[in-house]
Amino acid sequence: MPVRDLIIVGAGPSGLSAAIAAKERGLDYQVLEKGSLVNSIYHFPPQMVFFTTPELLEIGGIPFITPYDKPTRAEALRYYRRVRDKFDLQVSFGETVLSVTCEPDHDDQPQSSQSPKSLQKAFETESALSASSAVNDGPAVFAIETRSARGVRRVRHARNVLLAIGYYDRPNMLNVPGEDLPHVHHYYGEPHPYYRQRVVIVGGGNSAAESALEMHRAGAHVTLVHRRAELKPSIKYWVRPDIENRIKEGSIAARFNTCVKEIRPTSIVVTAAPSAGTAPSAVTAAPSAVTAPSGQGQESTLEPEGDIELPADAVFLLIGYHADWDLMAKAGIELTDRRAPCLNPETFETSVPGLFVAGGAVAGMDTGNIFIENGRFHGEKIVEVIARRSEAL
Ligand SMILES: Cc1cc2nc3c(=O)[nH]c(=O)nc-3n(C[C@H](O)[C@H](O)[C@H](O)COP(=O)(O)OP(=O)(O)OC[C@H]3O[C@@H](n4cnc5c(N)ncnc54)[C@H](O)[C@@H]3O)c2cc1C
Repeated sequence: MPVRDLIIVGAGPSGLSAAIAAKERGLDYQVLEKGSLVNSIYHFPPQMVFFTTPELLEIGGIPFITPYDKPTRAEALRYYRRVRDKFDLQVSFGETVLSVTCEPDHDDQPQSSQSPKSLQKAFETESALSASSAVNDGPAVFAIETRSARGVRRVRHARNVLLAIGYYDRPNMLNVPGEDLPHVHHYYGEPHPYYRQRVVIVGGGNSAAESALEMHRAGAHVTLVHRRAELKPSIKYWVRPDIENRIKEGSIAARFNTCVKEIRPTSIVVTAAPSAGTAPSAVTAAPSAVTAPSGQGQESTLEPEGDIELPADAVFLLIGYHADWDLMAKAGIELTDRRAPCLNPETFETSVPGLFVAGGAVAGMDTGNIFIENGRFHGEKIVEVIARRSEAL
C-alpha cells in the first residue's frame, strides 16, 4: 500500500501553493481535486474582475502579468494553469474526497479518538508544537476515500492530509419552501438571460450588490431583499455609491429588514425580519414601499399577516457560502461555534495531529476574512512543519 507524505485536497490557490512548497521540500505529495484546476475561480461569473491587484494573487514566485490594475477571471485561470505547468504539480482532477479517517491498524490509538479539546488547549501553549509533533511521530496513516467523476471509488493513504477545500461549493441555504425550484439560483453568472425579467436578489453583500447592478444595467427589473437595515459594511468602496444611488433613485428597488418566507413558481413572499419589528413595506429605499419603480411590471401583492408577494421570474439567493464542515467533523476535527476548524494558528494543524486546513476552509461562517492574498501563505507553513517532522523521523 503506497503511503504518501502528504495528500492535499483541493487545487485552488491554497492547495496549489502548498503543492509547490511540498515539491520544493522533496515530499511525496498528491493533490486531489473534485473539479478542474482552480475550480472555484472557474465557476465565478465569466466577466468577473478581481478586487485584488495581481501581485497579491501570485503563488510560487511566478509573476502575474496583466495590463490591467485588477486581473480578470480569464487571466487568473490562465495564470494558475501556467503555475501548474511550470512546477509540473501532481494533481488528480475529477476526484472528490468523501472522507478522511485514521486507519486504526496503523496506530495503536486512533488519532481522531484523542480528546480534541485537550489538544486544542495544548495548542495555546508553546509546548503544543512539540506535543503534537510527538503524537505525529507515530506510524499513523490517514485513509482518504475518494470517488472519481465516473463513480469509481478508491482509498488513498498518507501520513498527513491538508484540506484546502475552500467554501465556494456550498451555498448557505435559507431553508424556506420553494428554495429548490428551478428558477432559484445560488450562483450568479451572466446578466443577459434576465433582460426584461423580474429578478429578486436576496443578500446584502458584494455578490448581491454587484449582480444587482449588472442585471439592472442589462435591462432586468431588480429588487434587492436584505434582512438587515443596511448593506453590509464589507461592500467594496467603489461599488457602494453606485448601488446606494441606484436604490435612492429607485432604478433598483430594495427592501431592507426583510426576510424571505417562501418562494413560489412566479413570485417570492417576504416578511419583516424578526429583529426589524416593522412591516417590510416600511423599510424600502424605493419611492413606494409596496410598489416597485413604475414601468417595471413589479406590482406586489399584500398577503395575509402583512407579508408581501413580489413577482419574480428569477430568484438569486446570494447569502454566502461555507466550507464542508461535515467532512471536517467526520474526520474528527473540532469546530468552533462559528464552524471554523480549531487550529494551531502557527501550523494550521487541527485537533487531529497530521490533519491540516488551509485557505478559505479555515474561515467557518466568516468567509469574508480569508482571501487568496492571505490564504496563499498557509500551505508553505504547513509543509514546513511536515518536512521538519519527516526529517526528524
Ligand atoms: C465572487 C468572488 C470573488 C472573489 N474575489 C477575490 C479577490 O479579488 N481577491 C481575493 O484575494 N479573493 C477573492 N475571493 C476569495 C477567493 O476566491 C478565495 O479566498 C479563494 O478562492 C480561496 O482559495 P482556496 O484555495 O482556499 O479555495 P478554493 O479556491 O475554493 O479552492 C478549493 C478547491 O477545493 C476543491 N474541493 C472542495 N472540496 C473537495 C473535495 N471534497 N474533494 C476534492 N476537491 C475538493 C474545489 O473544487 C476547489 O477547486 C473571491 C471570492 C468570490 C466568491
